[in-house]
Amino acid sequence: MGLLDGKNALVFGLANERSIAWGITQALHREGASIGISYAGEMLKRRVMPLAEKIGCTWVEECDVTKDENIDAVAKKAAEDFGQIDVLVHSIAFAGREELTGPFYNTTREGFKNAMDISVYSFVALARAFQPILRPGASLICMTYYGSVKVAPHYNVMGVAKAALEATTRYLAYDFGPHGVRVNAISAGPIRTLAAAGVGGFRDMYKHFADMSPMRENITIDDVGNAAIFLASDLSARITGDVLYVDSGFNIVGVQMGPKEGSDQ
Ligand code: NAP
Repeated sequence: MGLLDGKNALVFGLANERSIAWGITQALHREGASIGISYAGEMLKRRVMPLAEKIGCTWVEECDVTKDENIDAVAKKAAEDFGQIDVLVHSIAFAGREELTGPFYNTTREGFKNAMDISVYSFVALARAFQPILRPGASLICMTYYGSVKVAPHYNVMGVAKAALEATTRYLAYDFGPHGVRVNAISAGPIRTLAAAGVGGFRDMYKHFADMSPMRENITIDDVGNAAIFLASDLSARITGDVLYVDSGFNIVGVQMGPKEGSDQ
């Protein structure tokens, strides 16, 4: 018996087999959910279809979240094909490469708007569009990063966007609470994905993370998938508006010493 037997789950933001959305999708499938997958553009279809096939998923829909008509169309299709939705995963972010290197003050007006629109507003837009078909007990989940609360060099406008996304999570949780719908965020440690490749100095950050986190280990998309199962399932029935860290404990460390400090190994 799976933890999500009989539940319908939609995942937004699958790009390839390295995507966090793929770790989550596989875990949702393992736990028995019926799955729908959404991807950004025609270009990605080639990469997404074989992944969908791997888990026997036939519901694969394009949705560019900057377009309200795309969001409305995908919500309508989901209503027709699934009836009601129990889990909605938002694993989407974007900022121009030029915004993710050098000083934050160089962020352009257009770059700022784009990052906020795609990485933050889209969560509001999806929540609103799907609200009529969310079953009581449903769970909405988005993906954030520690750069929202502390400065991560080069993360820049995306850190600001993630702070807004975490606030959005709390406001949506407040609105949806009376309907029995929960809204939470997962704050994942750095993972080598397409989106991460655009962040200046990511390679160093990834290495630093493994050296400095209490568990001395990087995290995987499977770790995020398993945490998502907790938030998606009734195991977290009274948890909403929260940010769950999946980061080998990196966020608890205030003063960073050398990699060997604090270790008896
Ligand atoms: P990813 O595989 O590149 O996923 C990002 C997804 O966002 C892609 O599918 C991308 O599609 C999609 N997207 C961008 N613009 C879109 C639009 N207009 N409409 C619809 N979808 C759009 O990278 P990822 O690392 O797994 O990122 C997933 C989430 O995890 C993001 O919110 C990210 O910030 C977050 N996160 C990542 C890390 C990390 O270290 N990797 C850590 C913490 C949190 P395209 O490829 O077509 O643009």
